[in-house]
Amino acid sequence: MLVVMEKGIPEKTIQACINAIEKRGYTARPIPGGDRVSIGILHNTGSVDAAHFLGLDGVKEVIPVTKPYKLVSREFKQENTRIKVGDAVFGDGSLPVIAGPCAVESLEQVLSIAGSVKKAGALLFRGGAFKPRTSPYSFQGLEKKGLEFLAAVREETGLPVVTEVMDVENFDIVEQYADVVQIGTRNMQNFSLLKRAGKSDKPVILKRGMSATLQEWLMAAEYIMAEGNNDVILCERGVRTFVRHSRNTLDLSVVPAAKKESHLPIIVDPSHAAGVRDQVISLALASAALGADGVMIEVHNKPEEAMSDGAQSLYPDQFISVMDKMNAIHQIVEQK
Ligand code: PEP
Ligand code: MN
Repeated sequence: MLVVMEKGIPEKTIQACINAIEKRGYTARPIPGGDRVSIGILHNTGSVDAAHFLGLDGVKEVIPVTKPYKLVSREFKQENTRIKVGDAVFGDGSLPVIAGPCAVESLEQVLSIAGSVKKAGALLFRGGAFKPRTSPYSFQGLEKKGLEFLAAVREETGLPVVTEVMDVENFDIVEQYADVVQIGTRNMQNFSLLKRAGKSDKPVILKRGMSATLQEWLMAAEYIMAEGNNDVILCERGVRTFVRHSRNTLDLSVVPAAKKESHLPIIVDPSHAAGVRDQVISLALASAALGADGVMIEVHNKPEEAMSDGAQSLYPDQFISVMDKMNAIHQIVEQK
């Protein structure tokens, strides 16, 4: 349930309403936005009686929320959430691009790639220091050393860094180095990790689970928001289907569907959807045409020597060309 307050009412009237909600054993969550405050009611097990709150001072209306998710939903908050990281804003209609290798491999490697993607216009750098690999015998990431190399990239280029956290155990250290913490596909429903991310003051990129429905994905985002972190960026990266011609199937339609249901920004990762670089290029252009709130692309200076995901990593020259085309497409899409 959502309690919508009158415009311009004093703070103490809002607080009195919050107290009235909490006195009934619910959690009250004020939701900033527009020119009035709304208060979301959380942790109710059954339906909430609107009559308890309708007569309170400053209350304009009480709206029942029909969706199982609340904080993430457009019913709770109509305006798009904007998340600013460095020079990038996710959710303001622009198309910030995150680029970098799948995995951090060496200082030289990340500095070289960061230099080229920055020149091409990327606003954030990505690279995994903790890698979720299908095989335990594959390269697992440089861990702390990798985080230090990412910090060196930030220092050298000024680009904020995005890196994956795989477990609660390593959250503190990842959070210490990262500007944006990524929760990967395989962890979308790792609820203890989501709760820990909810206590972080860093924005979180929440990748869609391998075969998660939109509802399951939004419920995962709700876990993060319910703990107090409002800065969640959804990331579509392809889902598992019957096809064999690509690694996964990029679910283009989930972008408008998510935007309808939720105020959270949604970005697209064409690299993990495609699995091969020629398809990455086409899907990156499609992502720009979709009106996504950003794109994340894997780029490597020597893809044939990459320790993970080389086949889907673009060469720096290809990245420059994709950036130019994505920007041109984005401009057309933005024309109202
Ligand atoms: C990654 O971004 O390198 C990654 C492992 O992604 P995903 O969780 O989408 O597989
Ligand atoms: Mn990868």
